[in-house]
Amino acid sequence: MILGAHCSTAGGVHRALDRAEQIGALSCQIFVKNNMQWSARKYAECEIKEFKERRAVSKCGIVFGHTGYLINLAAPASANRERSIQSLVLEVELAAQLGLPFLVLHPGAHLGGGTEAGLRQAARALDEIFAATRKLRVRIALENTAGQGTCLGHELRHLDAIYQSVQCPDRLGVCIDTAHCFAAGYDVRTEAGWDQVVAEVKTSVGLDQVLAFHLNDSKTDLGSRVDRHAGIGQGKIGRSAFAHIVNDPRFVKHPGCLETPKSADLHEDIENLAVLRSLLRHGRPSRRQVGRDRVSPKEDDRCEFT
Ligand SMILES: [Zn+2]
Ligand SMILES: [Zn+2]
Repeated sequence: MILGAHCSTAGGVHRALDRAEQIGALSCQIFVKNNMQWSARKYAECEIKEFKERRAVSKCGIVFGHTGYLINLAAPASANRERSIQSLVLEVELAAQLGLPFLVLHPGAHLGGGTEAGLRQAARALDEIFAATRKLRVRIALENTAGQGTCLGHELRHLDAIYQSVQCPDRLGVCIDTAHCFAAGYDVRTEAGWDQVVAEVKTSVGLDQVLAFHLNDSKTDLGSRVDRHAGIGQGKIGRSAFAHIVNDPRFVKHPGCLETPKSADLHEDIENLAVLRSLLRHGRPSRRQVGRDRVSPKEDDRCEFT
């Protein structure tokens, strides 16, 4: 896997690439706008230029986006679902401005409407979004979830149900989060358990649709349905599990990004990436995979990702 992390865009979207460089990430996930707001302005030409210039010299092979947390496409008809559709159309446009290949999206919560109805709502909303952005190439990578509350996506079949039901499946893909798998009851601690996840993806949407991985340990137990990320080796999944995950020969060129708790100096990202790199078995990490352990000032310690 091409190891990296979610990087903050605070101070300008190009700053995410500086942070990726700082931690030695070779892949990077960003929010294309404030992840807790519906709306945003489009990027100015100078911001796009700066991002693309930085991108051209960045060691990051892959940069992709994660959608905002307010978006819920699986809800019954409501003002918030309409807002979600508009917000995601905007995010696809912002991702296109930056030249990002895809945005990771949670399938959403059915809020009492029931699983099957929620999956239908999500698929119909995606149809609207793809129609409104038909000239853009940005794809949506549906992420599996821990299944908190009425959130869909904790069963891998949910991702497949949406994939099979949309009019433009070529605009969709999937992103697999290790902590979400574990909290949802998939025991990825063993190679057999991980293979079962991959086999289920293979026989449903197909491995060609896998666009990215989120590499997170879990503070919560197997099947807890509670989403709390931990540093690699600091949770219930454990360090050794990531050996069979990061070395999976089927995903050598896929981005695997951390979404683990960190402070402002990013030293945890540096440490977590060092742990993951130490597990890589091919024994020939490219020069690009050797991180530069530089640190800068420290601040809070909370996990802002799911
Ligand atoms: Zn994730
Ligand atoms: Zn997510």
